[in-house]
Amino acid sequence: VEEVPFDERFLSDPIESGLELILRGLEYLTDNPNPRRRKHAILDLCSGVETLIRERLRQEHWSLVFEDPAGASKQAYDDGTFRAVRLEDALDRLQGVCGLDVPPKWRWGLESLARRRSRLEGRGLVESTPVLMAIAVAVVTPFVDSVPPGRLNGSLAALLDGIRNRLATLEGRINDAARRIAEKRPNEVLLACPNCREEGTLVVEDGPQCLYCGYSGPPEDVAAEYARDLFPGEERAPYRCPVCERNTLLDVGASDEDPWYKCFACGRSWGVDDLAFCSWCGQPFEPPEDDPDEDLCRKCRGEEGEG
Ligand SMILES: [Zn+2]
Ligand SMILES: [Zn+2]
Ligand SMILES: [Zn+2]
Repeated sequence: VEEVPFDERFLSDPIESGLELILRGLEYLTDNPNPRRRKHAILDLCSGVETLIRERLRQEHWSLVFEDPAGASKQAYDDGTFRAVRLEDALDRLQGVCGLDVPPKWRWGLESLARRRSRLEGRGLVESTPVLMAIAVAVVTPFVDSVPPGRLNGSLAALLDGIRNRLATLEGRINDAARRIAEKRPNEVLLACPNCREEGTLVVEDGPQCLYCGYSGPPEDVAAEYARDLFPGEERAPYRCPVCERNTLLDVGASDEDPWYKCFACGRSWGVDDLAFCSWCGQPFEPPEDDPDEDLCRKCRGEEGEG
């Protein structure tokens, strides 16, 4: 048999390459993350996680790394002349074909990271350090957690240790920032941020704003984004706030069974027993104290304007 010059055996192990890229990306992000280093962090982290994900698909079957596995050919695979699977599809295959768990926060992190790379390559935009730190932790943690202790040895184990250390540094910095935010705003309800997905960093008392990553926006938009991104598939549409009357009142309870309501414009909140829902228009209202069984809101009772 004729020896092929670039047989797979001569290439470095893809797992090692993936881990090296991830470690280097985390180093860029933990040590002096100026814009130039953040740019490299985005590129390296993205390539690193893609390498590992593709390698996992390849272990299942080499055709899975093709955009279209049905049209995959071994020739194109060996030559490297094929269109590689897109990230969303790769994640669907990890779940559907390989039977792996793809947690929503991991998917969010991977898709966010890929978007940052597109923005970087297309428009030269470099994401801020806080957002990148949050994305990096979301993206890398599941890889690290999925390796049982003692499973890797030699250079791979050393790489994994390096990655663990850098992750711990990032997590420590994020936790410190969150603690400072909580100390600064002791009397406010702090929600999760739809942009960086950190818990307890979004204040809505003077208009919605994330004190960790700086994200803000019109209350209507933030409420809608919050509902869509933090409760995917639940269809929690914003209601009309009974006080400020903007469509910015959201059930922000962690589960369906435990609702509580927060207005993203005026910042007021209500427990589940403090609001009733109008039997005519469906919008929430505060039941009058003298008539707690009232089932129409003030508008529909005609107590104000034409309703
Ligand atoms: Zn944020
Ligand atoms: Zn309001
Ligand atoms: Zn009504």
